[in-house]
Amino acid sequence: MRLYLQRNVSRALTPTGGFLRGFAFSLNSYVGCAFGDNDGCPFCYVRALPVAHAVEGKWGSWVIAKINLPELLRCELELLARNDKLQRAAVFMSSATDPYQGIERRLCITRAALCSLADRPPYRLLVQTRSPLIERDIDLLGKLGSHVIVSLTIESNDERVRRAFTPTSPSVSRRLACARRLREAGIFTQLAIAPMLPNDPVQFAALADEVADRVIIDTYFDGDGSGGRRSRALGMRELHERLGYAEWFRPGAERELMAAMRSRLGPGRVLFSRDGFNAINPARCR
Ligand code: SF4
Repeated sequence: MRLYLQRNVSRALTPTGGFLRGFAFSLNSYVGCAFGDNDGCPFCYVRALPVAHAVEGKWGSWVIAKINLPELLRCELELLARNDKLQRAAVFMSSATDPYQGIERRLCITRAALCSLADRPPYRLLVQTRSPLIERDIDLLGKLGSHVIVSLTIESNDERVRRAFTPTSPSVSRRLACARRLREAGIFTQLAIAPMLPNDPVQFAALADEVADRVIIDTYFDGDGSGGRRSRALGMRELHERLGYAEWFRPGAERELMAAMRSRLGPGRVLFSRDGFNAINPARCR
Protein backbone atom coordinates (compact mmCIF):
# COMPACT_ATOMS: atom_id res chain seq x y z
CA MET A 1 0.00 0.00 0.00
CA ARG A 2 1.27 3.46 -0.85
CA LEU A 3 1.07 6.54 1.32
CA TYR A 4 0.25 9.87 -0.28
CA LEU A 5 0.87 13.05 1.70
CA GLN A 6 0.66 16.75 0.96
CA ARG A 7 3.02 19.30 2.49
CA ASN A 8 3.85 22.96 2.18
CA VAL A 9 7.49 23.73 1.44
CA SER A 10 9.53 26.91 1.80
CA ARG A 11 11.07 27.07 -1.67
CA ALA A 12 10.50 25.66 -5.13
CA LEU A 13 13.88 25.95 -6.85
CA THR A 14 16.90 24.36 -5.19
CA PRO A 15 20.41 25.49 -6.15
CA THR A 16 22.26 22.53 -7.58
CA GLY A 17 25.72 21.50 -8.73
CA GLY A 18 27.79 18.33 -8.48
CA PHE A 19 26.67 15.84 -11.14
CA LEU A 20 24.28 18.47 -12.54
CA ARG A 21 26.91 21.20 -12.77
CA GLY A 22 25.32 22.67 -15.92
CA PHE A 23 22.12 23.47 -14.05
CA ALA A 24 21.59 26.33 -11.66
CA PHE A 25 18.51 24.78 -10.04
CA SER A 26 16.63 21.54 -9.58
CA LEU A 27 12.86 21.50 -9.30
CA ASN A 28 11.08 18.60 -7.60
CA SER A 29 7.28 18.69 -7.45
CA TYR A 30 7.27 15.61 -5.23
CA VAL A 31 9.40 13.95 -2.59
CA GLY A 32 9.55 10.16 -2.70
CA CYS A 33 8.53 8.02 -5.62
CA ALA A 34 5.79 5.52 -6.39
CA PHE A 35 7.35 4.02 -9.49
CA GLY A 36 8.60 0.51 -9.09
CA ASP A 37 6.98 -2.41 -7.32
CA ASN A 38 6.30 -0.70 -3.99
CA ASP A 39 10.06 -0.70 -3.49
CA GLY A 40 11.19 1.83 -6.11
CA CYS A 41 13.46 0.92 -8.98
CA PRO A 42 16.16 -1.45 -7.70
CA PHE A 43 18.96 0.81 -8.98
CA CYS A 44 17.52 4.02 -7.51
CA TYR A 45 20.32 5.59 -5.47
CA VAL A 46 17.98 8.28 -4.11
CA ARG A 47 16.85 5.66 -1.58
CA ALA A 48 20.30 5.98 0.02
CA LEU A 49 20.10 9.78 0.33
CA PRO A 50 18.75 11.66 3.38
CA VAL A 51 15.63 12.69 1.43
CA ALA A 52 14.57 9.03 1.43
CA HIS A 53 13.93 9.31 5.17
CA ALA A 54 11.45 12.18 4.94
CA VAL A 55 8.74 9.68 5.87
CA GLU A 56 8.92 6.42 7.79
CA GLY A 57 8.47 3.49 5.47
CA LYS A 58 10.57 2.06 2.72
CA TRP A 59 11.52 3.99 -0.38
CA GLY A 60 8.92 3.44 -3.09
CA SER A 61 5.98 3.20 -0.70
CA TRP A 62 5.26 6.91 -0.23
CA VAL A 63 5.03 10.22 -2.07
CA ILE A 64 4.79 13.73 -0.66
CA ALA A 65 3.19 16.30 -2.94
CA LYS A 66 4.63 19.80 -2.55
CA ILE A 67 1.24 21.35 -2.65
CA ASN A 68 2.29 25.02 -2.58
CA LEU A 69 5.14 24.61 -5.09
CA PRO A 70 3.38 26.31 -8.05
CA GLU A 71 2.76 29.59 -6.22
CA LEU A 72 6.29 29.63 -4.78
CA LEU A 73 7.74 28.94 -8.19
CA ARG A 74 5.82 31.80 -9.76
CA CYS A 75 7.31 34.24 -7.19
CA GLU A 76 10.83 32.82 -7.49
CA LEU A 77 10.78 33.02 -11.30
CA GLU A 78 9.59 36.60 -11.11
CA LEU A 79 12.43 37.51 -8.75
CA LEU A 80 15.04 35.78 -10.92
CA ALA A 81 13.71 37.53 -14.01
CA ARG A 82 13.79 40.89 -12.26
CA ASN A 83 17.47 40.32 -11.40
CA ASP A 84 18.28 39.20 -14.96
CA LYS A 85 19.22 35.72 -13.72
CA LEU A 86 16.40 33.70 -15.24
CA GLN A 87 17.57 34.27 -18.81
CA ARG A 88 20.85 32.49 -17.98
CA ALA A 89 19.54 29.76 -15.67
CA ALA A 90 19.05 26.09 -16.51
CA VAL A 91 16.56 24.10 -14.43
CA PHE A 92 16.53 20.30 -14.01
CA MET A 93 13.11 18.81 -13.28
CA SER A 94 13.41 16.54 -11.33
CA SER A 95 16.64 15.40 -9.73
CA ALA A 96 15.37 13.26 -6.82
CA THR A 97 12.06 11.91 -8.05
CA ASP A 98 9.95 11.64 -11.18
CA PRO A 99 7.80 14.73 -11.84
CA TYR A 100 5.03 12.54 -13.31
CA GLN A 101 4.04 10.47 -10.31
CA GLY A 102 0.67 8.74 -10.76
CA ILE A 103 -0.93 11.19 -8.36
CA GLU A 104 0.11 14.03 -10.68
CA ARG A 105 -2.92 13.06 -12.80
CA ARG A 106 -5.14 14.43 -10.05
CA LEU A 107 -2.98 17.08 -8.37
CA CYS A 108 -1.42 18.66 -11.49
CA ILE A 109 1.48 20.20 -9.53
CA THR A 110 3.98 19.56 -12.30
CA ARG A 111 1.52 20.93 -14.83
CA ALA A 112 1.02 24.10 -12.77
CA ALA A 113 4.81 24.48 -12.51
CA LEU A 114 5.11 24.13 -16.30
CA CYS A 115 2.46 26.85 -16.68
CA SER A 116 4.62 29.24 -14.66
CA LEU A 117 7.75 28.22 -16.55
CA ALA A 118 6.01 28.71 -19.90
CA ASP A 119 5.06 32.24 -18.84
CA ARG A 120 8.60 33.02 -17.65
CA PRO A 121 10.95 30.56 -19.34
CA PRO A 122 14.45 30.04 -18.01
CA TYR A 123 17.31 29.72 -20.48
CA ARG A 124 16.73 25.98 -20.44
CA LEU A 125 14.37 23.57 -18.70
CA LEU A 126 15.08 19.84 -18.77
CA VAL A 127 12.12 17.65 -17.83
CA GLN A 128 13.13 14.07 -17.11
CA THR A 129 10.58 11.32 -16.65
CA ARG A 130 9.80 7.71 -17.44
CA SER A 131 6.08 8.38 -17.62
CA PRO A 132 3.96 8.83 -20.75
CA LEU A 133 1.77 11.08 -18.60
CA ILE A 134 4.03 13.87 -19.88
CA GLU A 135 2.02 13.73 -23.12
CA ARG A 136 -0.79 15.46 -21.24
CA ASP A 137 1.40 18.57 -21.07
CA ILE A 138 2.48 18.75 -24.72
CA ASP A 139 0.64 22.07 -25.03
CA LEU A 140 2.82 23.68 -22.32
CA LEU A 141 6.01 22.03 -23.53
CA GLY A 142 5.23 23.40 -26.97
CA LYS A 143 4.80 26.84 -25.47
CA LEU A 144 8.25 26.52 -23.86
CA GLY A 145 9.57 25.83 -27.38
CA SER A 146 13.34 25.94 -27.69
CA HIS A 147 13.69 26.49 -23.94
CA VAL A 148 12.78 22.89 -23.13
CA ILE A 149 14.39 19.48 -23.48
CA VAL A 150 12.39 16.39 -22.57
CA SER A 151 14.50 13.49 -21.35
CA LEU A 152 12.65 10.15 -21.34
CA THR A 153 14.37 7.46 -19.32
CA ILE A 154 14.42 4.06 -20.95
CA GLU A 155 17.02 1.67 -19.59
CA SER A 156 16.75 -1.06 -22.24
CA ASN A 157 14.99 -1.88 -25.49
CA ASP A 158 14.32 -5.42 -24.24
CA GLU A 159 10.86 -5.84 -22.73
CA ARG A 160 11.98 -8.97 -20.85
CA VAL A 161 14.73 -6.95 -19.19
CA ARG A 162 12.32 -4.18 -18.25
CA ARG A 163 9.90 -6.70 -16.78
CA ALA A 164 12.68 -8.40 -14.81
CA PHE A 165 14.22 -5.23 -13.34
CA THR A 166 11.33 -2.73 -13.15
CA PRO A 167 8.12 -4.71 -13.65
CA THR A 168 5.67 -1.91 -12.86
CA SER A 169 7.32 0.79 -14.96
CA PRO A 170 5.84 1.82 -18.35
CA SER A 171 6.58 -0.63 -21.15
CA VAL A 172 9.39 -0.10 -23.64
CA SER A 173 6.93 0.33 -26.52
CA ARG A 174 4.85 2.87 -24.60
CA ARG A 175 7.92 4.95 -23.74
CA LEU A 176 9.15 4.87 -27.34
CA ALA A 177 5.71 5.91 -28.56
CA CYS A 178 5.76 8.78 -26.09
CA ALA A 179 9.17 9.94 -27.36
CA ARG A 180 7.92 9.79 -30.92
CA ARG A 181 4.84 11.83 -30.09
CA LEU A 182 6.85 14.52 -28.28
CA ARG A 183 9.35 14.75 -31.08
CA GLU A 184 6.63 14.96 -33.70
CA ALA A 185 5.17 17.84 -31.70
CA GLY A 186 8.47 19.67 -32.25
CA ILE A 187 9.78 19.21 -28.70
CA PHE A 188 13.48 18.39 -28.42
CA THR A 189 13.43 14.83 -27.08
CA GLN A 190 16.28 12.77 -25.75
CA LEU A 191 16.33 9.21 -24.50
CA ALA A 192 18.21 8.81 -21.21
CA ILE A 193 19.48 5.23 -21.15
CA ALA A 194 20.32 5.55 -17.51
CA PRO A 195 21.38 3.33 -16.00
CA MET A 196 21.96 1.16 -19.04
CA LEU A 197 20.46 -2.30 -18.53
CA PRO A 198 21.08 -5.36 -20.74
CA ASN A 199 19.97 -4.61 -24.30
CA ASP A 200 20.37 -5.40 -27.97
CA PRO A 201 22.68 -2.56 -29.13
CA VAL A 202 21.86 -2.61 -32.86
CA GLN A 203 18.10 -2.84 -32.37
CA PHE A 204 18.16 -0.23 -29.62
CA ALA A 205 20.05 2.18 -31.88
CA ALA A 206 17.55 1.71 -34.71
CA LEU A 207 14.63 2.42 -32.36
CA ALA A 208 16.33 5.47 -30.84
CA ASP A 209 17.12 6.89 -34.27
CA GLU A 210 13.41 6.84 -35.13
CA VAL A 211 12.04 8.53 -32.04
CA ALA A 212 14.69 10.76 -30.43
CA ASP A 213 16.74 13.83 -31.25
CA ARG A 214 19.58 12.51 -29.16
CA VAL A 215 20.56 9.83 -26.68
CA ILE A 216 22.41 9.99 -23.36
CA ILE A 217 23.94 6.75 -22.14
CA ASP A 218 24.91 6.35 -18.51
CA THR A 219 26.14 3.46 -16.41
CA TYR A 220 26.28 2.39 -12.79
CA PHE A 221 29.98 3.11 -12.74
CA ASP A 222 29.94 6.54 -14.33
CA GLY A 223 26.59 7.87 -13.21
CA ASP A 224 25.98 6.93 -9.60
CA GLY A 225 28.39 9.56 -8.32
CA SER A 226 30.64 7.04 -6.57
CA GLY A 227 32.29 4.96 -9.30
CA GLY A 228 29.76 2.16 -8.83
CA ARG A 229 30.01 1.93 -5.02
CA ARG A 230 26.41 3.08 -4.47
CA SER A 231 25.12 0.60 -7.03
CA ARG A 232 27.09 -2.24 -5.45
CA ALA A 233 25.69 -1.25 -2.05
CA LEU A 234 22.17 -1.49 -3.52
CA GLY A 235 22.90 -5.09 -4.51
CA MET A 236 22.95 -4.49 -8.25
CA ARG A 237 25.72 -6.99 -8.87
CA GLU A 238 23.73 -9.72 -7.13
CA LEU A 239 20.52 -8.73 -8.93
CA HIS A 240 22.22 -9.01 -12.33
CA GLU A 241 23.62 -12.40 -11.34
CA ARG A 242 20.26 -13.63 -10.09
CA LEU A 243 18.53 -12.57 -13.30
CA GLY A 244 21.19 -14.15 -15.52
CA TYR A 245 22.81 -10.90 -16.69
CA ALA A 246 26.05 -11.01 -14.67
CA GLU A 247 28.23 -9.98 -17.62
CA TRP A 248 26.38 -6.67 -17.93
CA PHE A 249 27.44 -5.42 -14.49
CA ARG A 250 30.98 -4.26 -15.22
CA PRO A 251 32.75 -1.05 -16.24
CA GLY A 252 32.81 -0.76 -20.04
CA ALA A 253 29.66 -2.82 -20.62
CA GLU A 254 28.22 0.17 -22.47
CA ARG A 255 30.87 0.23 -25.21
CA GLU A 256 28.92 -1.87 -27.71
CA LEU A 257 25.81 0.25 -27.30
CA MET A 258 27.82 3.48 -27.61
CA ALA A 259 29.36 2.21 -30.85
CA ALA A 260 26.02 1.05 -32.28
CA MET A 261 24.32 4.34 -31.39
CA ARG A 262 27.14 6.45 -32.83
CA SER A 263 27.19 4.46 -35.99
CA ARG A 264 23.41 4.75 -36.45
CA LEU A 265 22.69 8.26 -35.12
CA GLY A 266 26.06 9.95 -35.69
CA PRO A 267 28.39 10.99 -32.86
CA GLY A 268 26.73 14.39 -32.34
CA ARG A 269 23.48 12.75 -31.22
CA VAL A 270 25.02 10.35 -28.72
CA LEU A 271 26.36 11.68 -25.46
CA PHE A 272 27.72 10.02 -22.37
CA SER A 273 27.02 10.27 -18.66
CA ARG A 274 27.66 13.53 -16.82
CA ASP A 275 28.74 15.52 -19.89
CA GLY A 276 25.64 14.32 -21.69
CA PHE A 277 23.20 15.29 -18.96
CA ASN A 278 24.85 18.70 -18.72
CA ALA A 279 24.68 19.34 -22.47
CA ILE A 280 21.92 21.88 -22.15
CA ASN A 281 22.05 23.18 -25.71
CA PRO A 282 20.07 20.99 -28.05
CA ALA A 283 21.33 20.44 -31.57
CA ARG A 284 18.33 19.38 -33.57
CA CYS A 285 18.95 16.46 -35.91
CA ARG A 286 16.23 15.14 -38.19
S1 SF4 B 1 11.49 6.45 -11.03
FE1 SF4 B 1 13.46 7.46 -10.59
S2 SF4 B 1 13.22 8.33 -8.54
FE2 SF4 B 1 11.59 6.81 -8.80
S3 SF4 B 1 12.40 4.92 -7.89
FE3 SF4 B 1 12.83 4.88 -10.11
S4 SF4 B 1 14.90 5.76 -10.34
FE4 SF4 B 1 14.13 6.31 -8.28
